[in-house]
Amino acid sequence: MTPATANATASDPILWSGIDADVRTNAPIGESTWFAAGGCADVLAIPQSIDALGELARRCADTGVPLRVLGQGANLLVLEEGVDGVVVDLSAPAFTTAAWDSTDATPRDDRSDTIVRIGAGADLFRLVQDSKRLGRSGLAQMAGIPATLGGAVRMNAGGAFGDIAQSLERIEVVTHGGKLRSIEAAQLRLGYRHCELPAGCIVVAAHLRLPHGDPQKIEAEVHEIFEYKKRTQPMGAKSAGCMFRNPTDSATGRRESAGKLIDHAGLKGLRVGSAFVSECHGNFLAVDRGGRARDVLELSRHVQMRVLAHSGWRLEREVVVWSRQQVPSFPEECG
Ligand SMILES: Cc1cc2nc3c(=O)[nH]c(=O)nc-3n(C[C@H](O)[C@H](O)[C@H](O)COP(=O)(O)OP(=O)(O)OC[C@H]3O[C@@H](n4cnc5c(N)ncnc54)[C@H](O)[C@@H]3O)c2cc1C
Repeated sequence: MTPATANATASDPILWSGIDADVRTNAPIGESTWFAAGGCADVLAIPQSIDALGELARRCADTGVPLRVLGQGANLLVLEEGVDGVVVDLSAPAFTTAAWDSTDATPRDDRSDTIVRIGAGADLFRLVQDSKRLGRSGLAQMAGIPATLGGAVRMNAGGAFGDIAQSLERIEVVTHGGKLRSIEAAQLRLGYRHCELPAGCIVVAAHLRLPHGDPQKIEAEVHEIFEYKKRTQPMGAKSAGCMFRNPTDSATGRRESAGKLIDHAGLKGLRVGSAFVSECHGNFLAVDRGGRARDVLELSRHVQMRVLAHSGWRLEREVVVWSRQQVPSFPEECG
């Protein structure tokens, strides 16, 4: 730690001085999430290179300033009180490029030409479209899932048709201390909406296995999956997709649909202030335009307690909540 940064707080320019990053203080990030509600980040930084991100991460680690990464905010609720520390946004070109024509820099098998390095800030919707156009398979299962690639890896996003894990070879991360490291997909123990990313690591790129395929077949597959999502989910609502993880029956290992449990408890349409349970899909908790993130959190707690009382199932939150305090995944205080 340099003497200059020893006592820095997030809002202290010493933390980012000389770093190639656009920095905004008191930045309204809640409104750019899919809920379009909630508060500000004390500091929002848009680093322009991996080196800049690494240096910022190092300074934050040295000074104990929290560092978070914002993707598309498609699985994120930012409470009105906002978040402390530094939030980074990987929307600069250094983090959004896909090297469709390159081969893996470290080929380990004779199919290395099917591996594409893609920046973690890349828009997943756009990647699915590009993969269709370029005749590369391996991403159709992600059709209709709003995310950056980094956010999709972090959540192991997916659904009935598969998840990002099935195409993931390895990732590049900036560690808590600011070092660049490569991690093999197997080390991440990817599972249902689960990824064991080492604490404090920020995904900066992913290497995906995307074999060449018939563009028409890929197009048809993407179309089918997208239409299925449109039929079964309220895609236009201000939500973060499914609020809760599908819980597992510990005796059988079987997963129960959280949406069904909410529906069977009679909670579709339930409201708390500006937040409501979708009539179309019980696991989608949405908010009115101009509504409050806090209402969504309160509603999620009501739903958890009502489902527990009705069927005995405990629903854990899938959506990440940012605030100045830790927000437990289950409202123990009400239990
Ligand atoms: C309409 C709708 C439909 C959806 N349908 C699905 C679905 O079918 N399946 C599904 O799985 N999800 C679905 N979701 C949820 C969401 O799309 C996924 O969870 C997605 O992976 C979130 O990505 P993001 O970039 O928006 O991450 P964010 O919401 O911005 O962040 C989520 C978490 O990931 C972390 N994170 C983001 N980027 C990085 C990074 N580069 N490195 C490390 N950590 C990072 C954040 O810090 C945060 O903890 C849906 C959401 C909506 C709004």
